[in-house]
Amino acid sequence: MARYRDANCKLCRREGEKLFLKGRRCFSDKCAFERRAFAPGQHGHSMRYKVSNYGKQLREKQKMRRTYGLLENQFHNYFEKADRKVGVTGETLLQLLECRLDNLVYRLGFAPSRKAARQLVRHRHLTVNGRIVDIPSYHVKPHDKIKVRDKSKNLDCIHASLKDMGHTSELAWLNVNKAALEGELLEYPKRQDIPTSANEQLIVELYSK
Ligand code: SF4
Repeated sequence: MARYRDANCKLCRREGEKLFLKGRRCFSDKCAFERRAFAPGQHGHSMRYKVSNYGKQLREKQKMRRTYGLLENQFHNYFEKADRKVGVTGETLLQLLECRLDNLVYRLGFAPSRKAARQLVRHRHLTVNGRIVDIPSYHVKPHDKIKVRDKSKNLDCIHASLKDMGHTSELAWLNVNKAALEGELLEYPKRQDIPTSANEQLIVELYSK
């Protein structure tokens, strides 16, 4: 499966805000955005221009896409799926993204970043409702139970991530049992309960042209 392989910190600098793509490092003074809060590249320093409406919509889409670690086609497919569903398209889009297995493993605190969560899933360390799932995009439904497999319960990276928990907060729509290394999606999250600075309406406008 194709995926982004270049430096993650460039993405934060390009979007002009921290996207928290690298776990613990994002909260330390090694964060590239803290040290170089301007766009990457030779002219990053001097990039000052008036942003058009289209530019704002594009940046918002790129920010959300990069936050969840998706490629263009994958993100567009999520939008089309959200658009076909009944309800507010922007909110549905966010719900679909939040219910990806890799995102939920991150939100539960089993991994310090979505990228690390994706690797845990790909390496078959997790089960959903008792069955091993190694597809990061797997859609988790309410009352599905996500567990770390017995043979993976001693993994240092999981315990270190749970100990930090600096990257995530207790979310009302998730239930976490840190001792048993398991969690449950209680319900689809409502917009106000999803911790993101994204303006999904701009993305809907962009794709509706
Ligand atoms: Fe972004 Fe984290 Fe890199 Fe800072 S350390 S620039 S928040 S990915």
